[in-house]
Amino acid sequence: MQNPELAGQHRKLYRSKFQVKTWSTEVRKNILISMKNWILNNEDKISEALRKDFKKPAFETQATEIYPCITEINFFLKNLDEWCKPKWVPSGALLLGTINKIQMEAKGCVLIFGPWNYPFQLSVVPLIGAIAAGNTGILKPSELTPHTSQLIQEMVKECCRDDHFNVVLGTVETAKDLLKLEFDHIFFTGSPNVGKIVMKAAAENLTSVTLELGGKSSAIIDQSAQIPVLIKNMVFGKFLNNGQACVAIDTVFVHEDRYNEFVSEFKKMYLQMYPSGTEDLCEIINQKNRDRLSAYKKDHGGKLIPLGKEDDLACLIENPQFDSPVMQEEIFGPILPVYRFSTLDRLIELFHQQKSLHNPLALYIYSEDRNSQDQLLSQIPSGGVCINDCIVHLGNHHLPFGGHRSSGMGQYHGEYSFKTFSHLRAVLKRTLLFRLTHFLYAPYKGYRLKILRQLTRWGI
Ligand code: NAD
Repeated sequence: MQNPELAGQHRKLYRSKFQVKTWSTEVRKNILISMKNWILNNEDKISEALRKDFKKPAFETQATEIYPCITEINFFLKNLDEWCKPKWVPSGALLLGTINKIQMEAKGCVLIFGPWNYPFQLSVVPLIGAIAAGNTGILKPSELTPHTSQLIQEMVKECCRDDHFNVVLGTVETAKDLLKLEFDHIFFTGSPNVGKIVMKAAAENLTSVTLELGGKSSAIIDQSAQIPVLIKNMVFGKFLNNGQACVAIDTVFVHEDRYNEFVSEFKKMYLQMYPSGTEDLCEIINQKNRDRLSAYKKDHGGKLIPLGKEDDLACLIENPQFDSPVMQEEIFGPILPVYRFSTLDRLIELFHQQKSLHNPLALYIYSEDRNSQDQLLSQIPSGGVCINDCIVHLGNHHLPFGGHRSSGMGQYHGEYSFKTFSHLRAVLKRTLLFRLTHFLYAPYKGYRLKILRQLTRWGI
């Protein structure tokens, strides 16, 4: 049974897609400019909403929620005209007398799901791509961050017509109702389990999907790593958003010669960056997730090293068993499993054996050795990679951001977002001056086969 109110909204948006896709780039850019102005005029409100939702520090809100949206809009404003232009392409000998182009067309009416952990950025950045490519659609932000989701709705109401984009607020039931409707593309950010539900629902209508999922993103610290210089970066990679990031360092593998140094430097740096009572760590989103994380600390078969006070969630777990929950699930919190390794070959073998380590969204390599970097890059697949850094690769609008298999499919950011929300339509137009293709039509008499064989040999 469809939800009648949603079905009504959807019908309107589905119909208007034919008109919206013809909007000029100027119209689309003006909508992006109004979104940019809205965001800049409401920075304090956004910051306050995120503080109410899970005490996100204002600095992190600015750096990871507001700044990425503004820079993404600026990047689109600069490049959209170029990206929208048809791309003229050459053709082969048999198509002499034709002109060929790739035309970027809006996919149509799209559905975007946002997660709770970066509730503003991860809803608004896909929305920018969808609008820029000329789509209509519905955005459903997370139900776990009601204050932020409400603000996103206000922004879209102010910047978009109601037959262009709507924000639907609601629970998981609302999300399920949305999946019963037909869309031309679904862009989902969230967990792999819900990703499977989304993909099954999309399959009913043969709707394309982009899945931005999570997984266990590992950091590998080899013998040559500059631990003293990079330890701050490693702590940042675990504790930004209190570990609740799809690209957070989930697990660390350290060369045995550097293991003790890593553990002691990590503990020291954690206390320096996040002293007791700090407000620079946001909250764990809800009790369900606090319980899940507490359970990881009890059932692991390794050695627990607290980082702050004994009863804080933040800790290292040395050598947890691979079949324990903390190594089978994405941690998404301030708990860090740490392992020693002796050689890269053995480590790579472990990555190939352990299913939970397959295809992470990100792989972090801390190493000064070019050969080790290349070996790890070529033998451990992942959505993206940082060498001697972490997380920040997704801040470059020129790089695609996305996972691989269990960490997702498809990419976005910058031109990759534009393409994700576009259909690349092939258009061939024949001039009537040459009709060389008559040569291809029956009856196949005379020298045709010989000529065709010669062209095949030449490969033109
Ligand atoms: P989630 O899968 O629980 O929820 C995401 C969205 O799906 C929400 O809008 C929610 O309403 C909807 N949803 C939930 N259950 C549903 C159901 N049964 N049917 C239909 N829709 C449903 O994810 P989350 O807890 O909000 O976010 C955490 C997960 O997201 C982590 O796995 C994390 O790695 C991943 N993530 C990935 C990225 C990325 O860019 N790849 C970014 C952030 C988070």
